Amino acid sequence: MTTIEKLLVLQDRDRRIKQLARDTEEIPARKSLSEATLNAHKAALAEAQDALKKNAAAIKAVELEIESHRERILKLRTQQNNVRTNEEYRTFEREIAAAEKAIRDEEDKEIVLMEEAEGLRVNVAMMEQKLKAEQKVVDADAQALNQRLDVIRREAEALAVERAALAKDIDADWLARYERIFKHTGDYAVVPLESGSCGGCHMKLPPQVVQDAKRNETMTVCSYCGRLLYWRT
Ligand SMILES: [Zn+2]
Repeated sequence: MTTIEKLLVLQDRDRRIKQLARDTEEIPARKSLSEATLNAHKAALAEAQDALKKNAAAIKAVELEIESHRERILKLRTQQNNVRTNEEYRTFEREIAAAEKAIRDEEDKEIVLMEEAEGLRVNVAMMEQKLKAEQKVVDADAQALNQRLDVIRREAEALAVERAALAKDIDADWLARYERIFKHTGDYAVVPLESGSCGGCHMKLPPQVVQDAKRNETMTVCSYCGRLLYWRT
């Protein structure tokens, strides 16, 4: 194998290693995304539960109000029994009528609140179901992502071993140069000549450079981007 051929194999492994690192980096973001969705469902459920609680408190308040009107009516009736004039009697009668009207109003409110409670309970049950379903999805996602991480880790370990063996077999100067370019460009350090142009930056190369590259023996670099050039045979 020529040095270029060895570098091409090395580059293939390095690109794979890099891709695996990128895949690994994406996983925490994907996990927090599904957690955010889950949290939104939890918040929606909490809101539904809160609305139901407020409704229950409002019903309780109405019932207390009715109770206090009833007690007042009892008191008024006792007082009414002890009046001396018709005028006083009628005043009590009016007050009692007003309290009875207040009770009917409160009872109407209670009916509305109870109807609302029905809808709110349905809503809470629905939100609980949705949360349960979402939790299942999130759990499955997390499991899949963890498995993916495991696969990536194993492949990366195997690649690291293979890469070390490949690198050992490459001339130190070429390797150092290759590594510097690969790190710098982030994509390819060794590129083919493509009809007289650099396969990396696509600039037209001087004929002499093309001739040098054709020999695939000496180190030929693109004068524009610095990538190593080879002649694809
Ligand atoms: Zn170039």
